[in-house]
Amino acid sequence: MNLFDRGLQLESINENYEWDILVIGGGATGLGIAVDAATRGFKTLLLEQADFAKGTSSRSTKLVHGGVRYLAQGNIALVKEALKERGLLLQNAPHLTKNESIIIPCYSWFRGMFYTIGLKFYDWLSGKLSIGKSRLIGKKEIIERLPAIKKASLKCGVLFHDGTFDDARLALNLAQTCVENDGVVINYCKVLSLVKSRDSQIVGATFIDKETQVIYEVKAKAVINATGVFADDILKMDAPEDQPIIRPSQGIHLVLDNSFLQSKDAMMIPHTDDGRVLFAIPWYQNVIVGTTDTPLQIHSLEPRALDNEIDFVLNTAGKYLSKTPSRKDVLSVFAGLRPLAATTDSSEKTKEISRSHKVIISKSGLVSIIGGKWTTYRKMAEDTLSKIIRYKMLPFKKCVTEDLKIHGYEIAQSEIDSLSIYGSDTIGIKKLMAENASWKAPLVEGMEFTEAQVIWAVRNEMARTVEDVVARRTRILFIDARVACKVASKVAEIMMKELEKDVAWKNNQILTFQQLAKGYWLDND
Ligand SMILES: Cc1cc2nc3c(=O)[nH]c(=O)nc-3n(C[C@H](O)[C@H](O)[C@H](O)COP(=O)(O)OP(=O)(O)OC[C@H]3O[C@@H](n4cnc5c(N)ncnc54)[C@H](O)[C@@H]3O)c2cc1C
Repeated sequence: MNLFDRGLQLESINENYEWDILVIGGGATGLGIAVDAATRGFKTLLLEQADFAKGTSSRSTKLVHGGVRYLAQGNIALVKEALKERGLLLQNAPHLTKNESIIIPCYSWFRGMFYTIGLKFYDWLSGKLSIGKSRLIGKKEIIERLPAIKKASLKCGVLFHDGTFDDARLALNLAQTCVENDGVVINYCKVLSLVKSRDSQIVGATFIDKETQVIYEVKAKAVINATGVFADDILKMDAPEDQPIIRPSQGIHLVLDNSFLQSKDAMMIPHTDDGRVLFAIPWYQNVIVGTTDTPLQIHSLEPRALDNEIDFVLNTAGKYLSKTPSRKDVLSVFAGLRPLAATTDSSEKTKEISRSHKVIISKSGLVSIIGGKWTTYRKMAEDTLSKIIRYKMLPFKKCVTEDLKIHGYEIAQSEIDSLSIYGSDTIGIKKLMAENASWKAPLVEGMEFTEAQVIWAVRNEMARTVEDVVARRTRILFIDARVACKVASKVAEIMMKELEKDVAWKNNQILTFQQLAKGYWLDND
């Protein structure tokens, strides 16, 4: 029986039952905690107000990395920790991570030597979990590997290794791992309030099932606020008078056709005009270019790229690529919000605020985890559970995630194809394709996504809306927003049948999705 079914998961909700852990938020942080807790043997419930990874966790640069930038800032402990986690993630989820060669083009020999020394140190810090040696490369090799690079004044380059991954799929696979270890995870369930005992200790929460509008109350020994940029909203439910502790910082990415990079290798510009790092990373058939770091006062589940951010990414990419990209070349644009810890020093720039995570336990026992990054989600979860145990909110149970295989784990596939990212689930999708020849058909010309993947997403991956399928179970919205718009009606038709919905549901889904998708392309036409 497939346990990863929303209806079945909801059946576990019983107002008299006491969970050990209730996690609020189904992004990287919350899902990591839910996996850690369930695999330690704690009774674990996770509630996500939208879809898994709907927030920042589907909008990252897609790097599993130590953070070369933090090395330059001298934050060696943070880099070392992230490099260890990089190694563990590549080991535990080989089906959705990739060892990526990244090239830094250098326009002076001094820079070349400087980055080579720095990256040799980066390799050394990764110790046994190194994924490849950095080396200085000559102009000829750079041009062979990155034919689209601007050649004038180019002197040399440095090649190093980091990981890349599919962020939304890792989130989904973590949710599945949690359920396989007797945890319960439910999407489209929003926490509305915290429940307190007579002595003002948090003993549970109320939430609304957004599909039926039914409100539930659940009890838990520990309630964890893992809501990223929404953390202050939950903290306010606990102590309305408290000052905000999160300062969102927006980062955007533009997706371009790979003719702009013409390479399987990624490119990194370590020091842009505003002192940031710019990446161009091959992802699916396209290339992702970004990012920015713009402090914001507001947060939302659908942040929008600002014009000056778009111009900055286009102009900076144009300085290093022989074909300068313009707004009309952008296939998709997406923005994400970093949940950085607020600082009292107004002069501190967001790129200089520490990216390390913090676990805070309030007087009433609300556990909040803030900051961090995708790469270190496992360690963040371990630290959160360790603190809960130290505070005697739960008894000691050992963390087992260092070598826990993540759902879909599969190494050494004989043939790498568009389904490889599903790992051990590939076989199930191929079975569907064999059942019905039309399910093998591509959803849209020029992309390898099939009808079978939509059916699989509904039956086995808790996809509830067209957006879930087009944005996160497949990444069509992030690969090409116009294509995503075209594909919506076909996806809605398939989902209507699978979910036994009516035509009104289908039409509403198409309209809602198409409105959303327009926010992912420029120069709306
Ligand atoms: C532009 C950008 C690029 C990045 N690139 C990288 C990278 O390459 N590598 C890397 O390692 N890290 C990267 N990061 C960092 C990483 O993406 C984030 O640290 C991580 O995704 C944060 O996850 P989260 O779970 O804390 O937050 P989120 O993913 O935002 O999840 C929080 C969840 O809580 C839910 N929620 C909120 N309120 C409620 C409620 N009341 N009830 C139920 N659910 C609720 C939200 O719907 C949301 O899904 C990047 C971040 C940004 C912004």
